[in-house]
Amino acid sequence: MDTTPRYSGLRIFREALRGHQGWERAWRDPAPKASYDVVIIGGGGHGLASAYYLARDHGIANVAVIEKSAIGLGNVGRNTTIVRSNYLYPENHHFYEKSLQLWEGLEQDLNFNVMMSQRGVLNLFHSDSQRDAAARRGNAMRLSGIDAELLDRHGVARYAPLVDMDNARFPVYGGLLQNRGGTARHDAVAWGFARGADRHGVDIIQHCEVTGIRREGGRVTGVETSRGFISARKIAIAVAGHSSHVAAMAGLRLPIESHKLQAFVSEGLKPMIDGVITFGAGHFYISQSDKGGLVFGGDIDRYNSYARRGSLPIVEDVMSEGIAMVPALSRVRVLRQWAGIMDMSMDGSPIIGKTPVGGLYLNGGWCYGGFKAIPGSGWCFAYTIAKDEPHPLNAALSLDRFRDGRMIDEKGAGPAPWAH
Ligand SMILES: Cc1cc2nc3c(=O)[nH]c(=O)nc-3n(C[C@H](O)[C@H](O)[C@H](O)COP(=O)(O)OP(=O)(O)OC[C@H]3O[C@@H](n4cnc5c(N)ncnc54)[C@H](O)[C@@H]3O)c2cc1C
Repeated sequence: MDTTPRYSGLRIFREALRGHQGWERAWRDPAPKASYDVVIIGGGGHGLASAYYLARDHGIANVAVIEKSAIGLGNVGRNTTIVRSNYLYPENHHFYEKSLQLWEGLEQDLNFNVMMSQRGVLNLFHSDSQRDAAARRGNAMRLSGIDAELLDRHGVARYAPLVDMDNARFPVYGGLLQNRGGTARHDAVAWGFARGADRHGVDIIQHCEVTGIRREGGRVTGVETSRGFISARKIAIAVAGHSSHVAAMAGLRLPIESHKLQAFVSEGLKPMIDGVITFGAGHFYISQSDKGGLVFGGDIDRYNSYARRGSLPIVEDVMSEGIAMVPALSRVRVLRQWAGIMDMSMDGSPIIGKTPVGGLYLNGGWCYGGFKAIPGSGWCFAYTIAKDEPHPLNAALSLDRFRDGRMIDEKGAGPAPWAH
């Protein structure tokens, strides 16, 4: 039985009085065992959430999460933290809505402050045809019981007074608002799921790289790691930007390419942007963190790479789009910039499911939308691993849709990963 004390306001007060000497480790640092029921490769948001739900909902706690670095240093700690479920296609919006609903109760569930802030996500549009597309998407969401509101120009001006409504090239016609969308604190999500999984008995093994996947007679038998062989009945891949080369260890060639995506944070400023706002005439999005920094980004770098820095043309692109949308940004100084490695799928939608190799499961293809999916993906992936079949919410997000031609091309961009 879990006897770890819960976090609470009262405990913070008590610990403050005794010099913070009484805090226990948030999760253990166990040596890997020789064998597990399930080995999850990758201690990012998806791997940790999957382990948590496997233990909590399916009673499978003989699980190891194997992470080559320290947890939280991958994309889960490098993203711009936007959470939303405003997708057009039912295969996507039902799944992301489940995730958003889990986000809404996550702090109580994990007993961890993930700083979930439902401050709203507003997508601007700049032409009649874009308005039609936004209205169609909003209607599709509302028909599925998901909140969406179409704002006219006045509504946008009220919601985001600093937006340049009359930019000569890209005048704002209106926006599609999801009020329940917002942001959360990225690394707190990794820490919260790690602590939750650990409390249920999951071993989180850091600084241990998976270097091979052993197979026998069409089934997996375990993983080779930098700390020796670990046998496992089931192996789950959740390595985001490294999906292709980890899957290749089991002989699989995935419909995924790795690209990099940059993020930027400005100096701390007084509150100037309430919600998350996205520019519709290009690809730019912005929000303001609780510390006051503006957090923003744009498109991927559009060439394959495993480098976690970005190229200058994208920096120029992002800045010019930002200034076209909010001219006041031209006076702001950028404090930090970095990139993460994105697992871009051929149709821009994720993969959560079984693979042709017995006992091997795949969670990947997150493109730049995997942060918001963490609770929903962990929940569905745990179900799939435990029952050896997908949940109805991730049934369409299977790997074999690429073989069968059942694309979920939300953007209508065609079979080019860099275009999604
Ligand atoms: C700049 C940027 C902005 C983004 N903005 C958003 C956003 O606003 N909203 C949103 O929803 N999504 C966003 N994303 C996408 C989101 O961050 C990712 O889709 C998601 O975090 C990926 O899943 P993860 O957390 O499991 O990945 P990661 O945290 O990358 O976890 C994968 C882990 O696998 C480990 N690993 C890899 N290979 C091995 C191996 N061989 N052995 C052991 N471990 C291994 C890695 O070290 C890593 O820790 C953004 C991403 C970036 C880079």
